[in-house]
Amino acid sequence: MDKLSQTRIQLLHPDLRALATETFSKAELKLTGRAQARITATLRTFEEQDALYKLGRTVVNPDGKSKSKPMGNIVTNAKAGQSIHNYGLAMDFALIIDGEETSWNTAKDFDEDDIADWTEVVAVFKANGWEWGGDWKSFKDPPHFQFDFGYTWQQLQAKWNIGDQKNGYVNLKRAALNVANLYRAKTALNLRTGPSITSRKKKVILKGDYLSEISREGEWSNVVFEGIKGYVNNKYLVK
Ligand SMILES: [Zn+2]
Repeated sequence: MDKLSQTRIQLLHPDLRALATETFSKAELKLTGRAQARITATLRTFEEQDALYKLGRTVVNPDGKSKSKPMGNIVTNAKAGQSIHNYGLAMDFALIIDGEETSWNTAKDFDEDDIADWTEVVAVFKANGWEWGGDWKSFKDPPHFQFDFGYTWQQLQAKWNIGDQKNGYVNLKRAALNVANLYRAKTALNLRTGPSITSRKKKVILKGDYLSEISREGEWSNVVFEGIKGYVNNKYLVK
């Protein structure tokens, strides 16, 4: 593994570093020709994500800039906190050809074993439980792998926002013992605009989702779920 990849793995979430090292090393063994794999990015801080989001929107991106498109290309749709990279649970890779040239060619068979080198790397990651961005339906991201421990970015952001984190990484343990007002949904339930079953539904909370209670009155709790305030019946809440 090259130095850059090693350094970048050390920026991943501490709980993911060992698996990342193991998976990446296995993938490297598959590439026996001119191409080697390199990890190009792992952790992206909230500040870095914010800067990326502004590119092509409020900050000119030289890439893709033209008369008809004076701001250049938009790079991401994810705001700060909305990318799995922001939690150190994703990595991007590229191929390095002959030790110098970076390639994102997903089809070329550099080691002439009848399987594209890119595909060989992807197969190893998927076999080790990683989600591949090339499998996404709407926006395909072939250099991207993530291992989210079963959390959505909304859930990771909620943990982040309530301070369930240590040294800049969210706590991935399911039971967050030290947060007094944190509850989980015992079953799927409705987030409502008011403390009554006749109040309008704002959102469905899935079984196992985390939410924070602001206050409670009788069987109704005022809560925050994924940044949205509302009311739920607290007989469906568990610690
Ligand atoms: Zn990525």
